[in-house]
Parts: sequence; structure tokens; C-alpha cells
Amino acid sequence: MKNIAIIGGGIIGLSTAYYLNKAGHKVTIFDQGNLKDNCSSGNAGMIVPSHIIPLAAPGMISKGIRWMFNSKSPFYVRPRLSGDLIRWGLKFYAHANHQHVEKSAPVLKEISAMSKSLYRDLAKESDFHFGYEERGLLMLYQTSETEKEEIQAANLANRNGVEARVLSLSEVQLLEPDVQVKARGGIYFPGDAHLIPQLLISNLIQHLQKRGVTIFSETRVDDFMVAGQRVASLQVQQERPAFDEYIIATGAWSGIFCSKLNLDLPMQSGKGYSFNLQDVKKNVRIPSLLLEGRVAVTPMGTSLRFGGTMEIGDTDRSVNMNRVKGIVQTIPKYYPEMSVNVPIPNQVWNGLRPCSPDGLPYIGRSSQYKNLIIATGHSMMGLSLGLATGKLVTELVNETETSMDISPFNPERFN
Ligand SMILES: Cc1cc2nc3c(=O)[nH]c(=O)nc-3n(C[C@H](O)[C@H](O)[C@H](O)COP(=O)(O)OP(=O)(O)OC[C@H]3O[C@@H](n4cnc5c(N)ncnc54)[C@H](O)[C@@H]3O)c2cc1C
Repeated sequence: MKNIAIIGGGIIGLSTAYYLNKAGHKVTIFDQGNLKDNCSSGNAGMIVPSHIIPLAAPGMISKGIRWMFNSKSPFYVRPRLSGDLIRWGLKFYAHANHQHVEKSAPVLKEISAMSKSLYRDLAKESDFHFGYEERGLLMLYQTSETEKEEIQAANLANRNGVEARVLSLSEVQLLEPDVQVKARGGIYFPGDAHLIPQLLISNLIQHLQKRGVTIFSETRVDDFMVAGQRVASLQVQQERPAFDEYIIATGAWSGIFCSKLNLDLPMQSGKGYSFNLQDVKKNVRIPSLLLEGRVAVTPMGTSLRFGGTMEIGDTDRSVNMNRVKGIVQTIPKYYPEMSVNVPIPNQVWNGLRPCSPDGLPYIGRSSQYKNLIIATGHSMMGLSLGLATGKLVTELVNETETSMDISPFNPERFN
């Protein structure tokens, strides 16, 4: 049994705590917030084995440049004179190509499939009621340009063993009997699932506390004390608690946090927003992505969540209502009978996706500090890959063979 500190209590930190606790370790989580005000509660709740294409993919650069001049656009890089941003951007640019996509697809498929199967198991446990449903995912498009890109993506998915069906509008409409859809067509991924993330997070917190995991909320870890090739202790206010192993799961803050140990972890945050419609009488049945507007739509019980935008930047949490309006204006373009008002700012949730420049997570042990593991950088897929990440980190702690080859996730791959 080891005494383990996890810094960061989002889905990655909590999933890691879940498997470490199950394996018999003593676990303590530190979080600077309340564990519910991070990126892991208000997201779109999609479990997406279909997402085998990383964010760094061909086309993203040209789209990004086109979108940068539109205040309501779904993708935006806030111009800043920041060395970190420039270095990150150059690495992103170097990976936005077909070879990277072809190489990443099987790896993302493997970790995604593993995570989905773990979610299926977790949903059967008595402490967990988080609205897990396996209804698939619809990718809806309106232009011939997007249709072409999506059919290519569907072919790539099928080649990698992820089932993708190209549907006409009338076939889409058969899957969505209660809501009128306006689209040229869609790709249906029957293997995807969804859940209610805020319930999952509450379930995990309660379960972990019941099982003796110590959680320090509103407790920022300020620094580390090191001794040779090991982390000796944390610095938390005036205290210096010591542990056998340290797991960094600090999401979008991980780049800054790792620099305290002189570790270079390229990271930018990708801010996104979401808001909910309550008591929807005729609800969407299948989680959908409205592709041209990059809006995610997820039914969660009787409510409907809309999420979107990716503002690459630092860790600023302010809400840009122009981008929220961009989400709202996209909705009736795809669901003509749905009229949604712009929510008031305090009903808009925002979260910072932890984005690595190649779109793959960082999961692995540091070579400089023998008792340090990094688990972050999951970008748009952190919820989806959360449980698998927790399991893989636990295997690293236990020094057993990992369930899959994690070398593509090496946190030192850019050194
Ligand atoms: C609009 C939107 C929709 C999304 N939809 C989906 C989806 O459908 N499916 C999906 O898979 N993913 C989705 N995502 C992405 C997903 O939400 C993230 O990838 C995931 O939540 C990241 O989890 P995390 O644990 O790494 O980070 P976080 O949830 O941000 O947790 C990191 C924690 O570290 C803490 N921390 C940071 N620094 C310190 C410190 N020094 N000391 C103590 N604590 C610290 C923070 O307080 C925070 O609680 C979406 C994101 C957005 C914005």
C-alpha cells in the first residue's frame, strides 16, 4: 500500500483516486477549487469512441485563421505575446497533418474503447447513478464541404474498426422522431454513449469519501520540495505534507504547475461554454454535433445541454457573450422549431480544456522525478478518457504492465 497525493480533482484526478483506492492505496486529493467548478462538470457529457481524430488535424489551421476574424466563431486563438503560446502553436502546426492522424487514430481508439467499457461497468455499481446511456452520436452537417470531410472521417473510423454510418436527412429524422432536424445529412456512430457529468462527479466524490479518500477542497498546492530525483513533499500554505507518489492532474493549469518542477509540459487552455434548457417537452434523443457551428447538443434527462467554442488562451475564466450568442444562433439553423434565448451570463458555465499541442493526452511517469506521474492534456476528450486514464495511472503506481502501450502519451515527448 502506498500513500499517494493527487493534485487536481477533476475527472482525471477523481478517476485516478477511484482505481488507486480500489487497489488498496491511501489517497489524498488536493484541489484549489470546490471540485465542481472545473472543466469536468459542465461539459457535454459525451463518451466518444468515435473521436479517433486528434484536435491537431489537417484543416484546423486554415479554419482557425478564417474563424479568428469572426467574434462569434467556434474556434479562436486569443493573440498574446506569449512564448508558451508561440511554442505551442508551432508544435500544433507541425502535427496538423495526415500522418499524425493516421498514427493517432488506433491509439485513441484503444484508450477510448477501454474507457467506455469501464464506464459501462461503473454505471452498474450501486453508488453510481449518472444517466449513462448508449444511444450513439450524430454528426450533422449542412454544407457539401463538411459532408466531404465527414465522409472521409467516417471511412477512417470504419478502417479502424469504429462503426460509422453515413445517413441521409430522412434517415437522421428516423432516429430523431420528436425534433425536426435541418441538415444535408449526418454520420451516425452507434458505439458512442453519454452521461450527466455533474452527477458522475458528485457520485465519485461521495463514493471516494465513503471509502476513506481524503479530499482537501479550496486547497491550492503552491509548490514542491525535491530531494535528488524524487519529490519529497508538497507545499500547501504553511504545511509540507509528504507522500510516496505524486500525481499531477491539474488540467489546464498543468503547464504552469509543472514549471515549478522545471518540467516543460506544453499546454494551452481551450475555453468552452455550456448552458441548459430545462423541462424540454420534445427532446433530442441522440447526442449530436452541429458541425459547421461546432456546437454539442446532449439530452440529460428532461434537460438539453448546448456546449461549444474553443478559445485557445491562458487560464482566464471570463465569459465572452459574443461566443455564447454564436452557439445560440447555431441552434435554430439545425433545429428550426427550437427557439432558444441567449442565457444570462450567470447561467453560462465555462470550462478550460487542457490542450496538448498534438491532441493526445499526457499519461506517464516523469524520468526526472521517480515518484511523479503526470495525467492531463485530454483536451476535448477528458471525460471520455477519464476512467481509462485513472486505470492506467494505477497500473503505473502498481508497477504492473499497463493495459495498453502508453508510449504515445509520454509527457516528455516534446523534450
Ligand atoms: C464546453 C465543453 C464541452 C466538453 N464536452 C466534452 C465531452 O462531451 N466529452 C469529453 O470527453 N470531454 C468534454 N470536454 C472536455 C473535458 O471536460 C475535459 O477534457 C476534462 O474535464 C478535463 O478534466 P481534468 O480533470 O483534466 O481537468 P479539470 O476538470 O479542469 O480539473 C483540474 C483540477 O485541477 C485543479 N488545480 C489546478 N491547479 C491546482 C493547484 N495548484 N492545486 C490544487 N488544485 C489545482 C483545478 O482546480 C481543477 O479542479 C468538454 C469541455 C468543454 C469546455
